[in-house]
Amino acid sequence: MNRTQRAAGAVVGSAVGDALGAPYEFGPAGAFSERFPPAAGPGGMRAGGGWDAGEATDDTQMAVHLAESLLERGGLDLPDVFARFRRWAADDPKDIGLQTEDVLTNGMPWDLAAAVHFQVNLRAAGNGSLMRAAGSAVYFAPAGPAATMDAARRIAALTHGDRAAWEGTAVLHELVRVALADGDPLDALPATLALVDAEHRERYAAVLAPDWHPGLATEPNGAVWPCLGSAVWALRGTSSFPDALRAAVDVGGDTDTVAAVTGALAGARYGFDAIPAHWTEPLHVPLPGGGGRVLRLPELLSLAERLGEGPPSR
Ligand SMILES: [Mg+2]
Repeated sequence: MNRTQRAAGAVVGSAVGDALGAPYEFGPAGAFSERFPPAAGPGGMRAGGGWDAGEATDDTQMAVHLAESLLERGGLDLPDVFARFRRWAADDPKDIGLQTEDVLTNGMPWDLAAAVHFQVNLRAAGNGSLMRAAGSAVYFAPAGPAATMDAARRIAALTHGDRAAWEGTAVLHELVRVALADGDPLDALPATLALVDAEHRERYAAVLAPDWHPGLATEPNGAVWPCLGSAVWALRGTSSFPDALRAAVDVGGDTDTVAAVTGALAGARYGFDAIPAHWTEPLHVPLPGGGGRVLRLPELLSLAERLGEGPPSR
């Protein structure tokens, strides 16, 4: 499978997961399979929770803003990414994470806003930097593991002052990078964990272990550790894109984000062609702060293709 297939799989797969999981957010485990029994096929997009069928949420909206910044600025321009996030937050998105909203509206400059929030609240390990990672993971992949994880940490730090969120986001970027290079992200877990900051390694090793499952989570999956752990668990326990996504949404809780993260991984692993067409057909990404645009599959594929070219070589 070529790299373009995998890059498109990651970008579109994450958006599909976001839209697929959105109607089940904060719901119980097993809700997707109750609505769409596994024997009847992959199941469909449906409306719910204020979302239209196939409508992507803040996860994908922020991922698109980040991706467009990378492409238009020709690299990682942190103040520009932050400014785009702020424009998005000010344009009344249907959903925005509590922590992200506070950081983007507290009036502090880009390099202080998240740190100040963390200093005041002492908790900033939400999954909000994990959820928007598909495009940036594709973009930085050609630069190799160190540059990929470094960029991931910096992007996460824009909204999340807790290093736990940086490390989880860095792990996800690296696993997507491995998949894009035809590697198996599950085989890459030990090597990736070795690149995690020592103070955070043990906690990630626990949720990424082969015998971990969402029932062992010690906090809701709106937190970065069980969110990443659940996505890797969904990938490990299944052998197709639709089955991985079903498993992710069936975890319950923060279903759109767990499925968005799973979709990035499964999309990179199985490629764009593995994503059911009846999931991509209704997919659409309204983009607050984006001039009234609504992105659909052709725009997302174009974004994935341009991101796949990576940072301009110096
Ligand atoms: Mg969301």
